Amino acid sequence: MHRFFVSGENIRAGRVVFDSGEARHIERVLRLGAGDSVMVFDGSGYEYLVRLNEQGRDRLAGEVIEKAYIDRETASSVYLVQGLGKGDKMDTIIQKAVEIGVKAVYPLACERSVVRLEGDKAVKRVERWQEIAVEACKQCRRNVVPEIKPVIELTALCQEMHGKCALMLYEKEQELGISNYLKSNERELAGKELFLLVGPEGGFSPTEVEMARQHGCTTVTLGSRILRTETAGIVAASIILYELGDLG
Ligand code: SAH
Repeated sequence: MHRFFVSGENIRAGRVVFDSGEARHIERVLRLGAGDSVMVFDGSGYEYLVRLNEQGRDRLAGEVIEKAYIDRETASSVYLVQGLGKGDKMDTIIQKAVEIGVKAVYPLACERSVVRLEGDKAVKRVERWQEIAVEACKQCRRNVVPEIKPVIELTALCQEMHGKCALMLYEKEQELGISNYLKSNERELAGKELFLLVGPEGGFSPTEVEMARQHGCTTVTLGSRILRTETAGIVAASIILYELGDLG
């Protein structure tokens, strides 16, 4: 059955009102209407079986037949901190990160980020990424929509990470591999929060690596091959969630 997103404020007293985008999709693309049933999620964990019953110009509503809290979240919370990449790389990264089970994405403005996102442009881009996260939730059946955080600088991120587990993927790290880190910290990590930092195309600068280390971030390698930025975070998040028992 098709899944649609309706924000909590549009689900009241057993009545669901679809926004115009979802309504258009339901009526014009899928050709569904009064009497048909669809699945709805509100982004906070609830899933609803809804029967469509009101149709009109620019309006589509339905009644809730069943409501259930269905948890498809991971036990540990992995936050992907992604160095801003070029073009539409972030779109793909966010889509994949949501499917895997990442809890939030922090777009990180790095020294070597070619793209500069500031002010209104940054806000608009984050809104778009949030929409991509909702679309990914529809497809992968996640009921809790991960938050796409505002674009952040490393200094502010370090304050936010303070006292929490944090891993920085660093291709020049010679000693510690991600697997060894996870094996020796399994207990500390299970069911907890973990920040995972990935550099942009040009990688992290030595100053950034030093600052992150000073704030308790551990640098790890993914091995001898250099992965593209859009590959590295997805691979690392999968490894982490697998090791912590969250990928089946
Ligand atoms: N421009 C750099 C590579 C950057 S790759 C160079 O050519 O040396 C982009 C990001 O992916 C890096 O900042 C790092 O966070 C991650 N990454 C890629 N391959 C990695 C590896 N083998 N080990 C750890 N991190 C890696």
